[in-house]
Amino acid sequence: MNDNAMIEVVNLTKRYAGHTAVSDISFTVQRGEIVGLLGPNGAGKSTTMRILACFLPASAGTVRVSGCDVFNESREVRRRIGFMPENNPLYPDMRVREYLKFRARLKGLTRRRSRERVDVVMEQCGLTDVNKRIIGQLSKGYRQRVGLADALVHEPDLIILDEPTAGLDPHQIRSVRQLIKGLAQSHTVLVSTHILPEAEMTCSRVLIMYEGRILAADSPENLQKIMASNSQIIAEIAAPVAELEECWLQIPEVEQFNVTAAEGEFNRCALTPRNGEDLRARIFLLAKERGWLVRELTRSRHSLEDIYLQVTKPNEEE
Ligand code: ATP
Repeated sequence: MNDNAMIEVVNLTKRYAGHTAVSDISFTVQRGEIVGLLGPNGAGKSTTMRILACFLPASAGTVRVSGCDVFNESREVRRRIGFMPENNPLYPDMRVREYLKFRARLKGLTRRRSRERVDVVMEQCGLTDVNKRIIGQLSKGYRQRVGLADALVHEPDLIILDEPTAGLDPHQIRSVRQLIKGLAQSHTVLVSTHILPEAEMTCSRVLIMYEGRILAADSPENLQKIMASNSQIIAEIAAPVAELEECWLQIPEVEQFNVTAAEGEFNRCALTPRNGEDLRARIFLLAKERGWLVRELTRSRHSLEDIYLQVTKPNEEE
């Protein structure tokens, strides 16, 4: 077993009646990492998180949190995890402070420790000003913060957040995202999302999940590098279409090309290089030799969105 591992999932499967929600997945999250579980609705993200948080038993496989088995040592695991479920079950009639104190006591903190910790997490989550407000009357953004404060109140090592920004407006999303980033300095965080920029911005590593399986796992930067092998070069050149096409046909490193008319004498060439080679310098020299004007020469970079769409594509087309 890996001493630095916070989460170790080995061959985890979860079947609901007649349906496999999670299918033989394995992954490890090291201490201090902030990992995104990215996938569309129904990918199995919530199921995986609920098993990790001891809310749901697995059908097969082993899951360990900080070295403790989630099935046999669930009390230990619960102490170490702060879990914010997707539809956070807050008590709408309670006041913020009262609710957090109640939750802290439920999690086994003494009365005194509860008071101290509630003050700390309210400050951390920007709730101090609304501490006497009734939860049901708060905006969704503030209710999410209460959920986050609840997840943090017992000082867990690992924070698991299931779609923490779902249903929030862009301002609220930004502030919850900043909160999560702040947590990452002293905690291990596993956060699920189907919002791509969220994974790109907040996570050091991303696991892309689809139909119960993990299709890709790497840092957002490395996933982009992998995709670079399929990158494209865009060149806008003032030259006749026939000459451009003939020119691209003669370069063996150009695997595919597409020439379309742009404004005036310019044509837009989209070139797919073989093995992702960067052909920009070569194209520039070639255009110079032939006396062609070039007004754009770029290499497209793939965002996580492209990767996500690419890895989930085969099934989307079914
Ligand atoms: P979402 O973003 O919509 O929450 P998700 O990636 O979290 O999606 P899960 O909620 O884990 O996905 O669901 C995975 C699959 O398991 C889905 O097909 C879902 O319909 C099914 N599922 C989830 N909970 C149950 C249940 N209690 N009984 C039967 N099927 C379930």
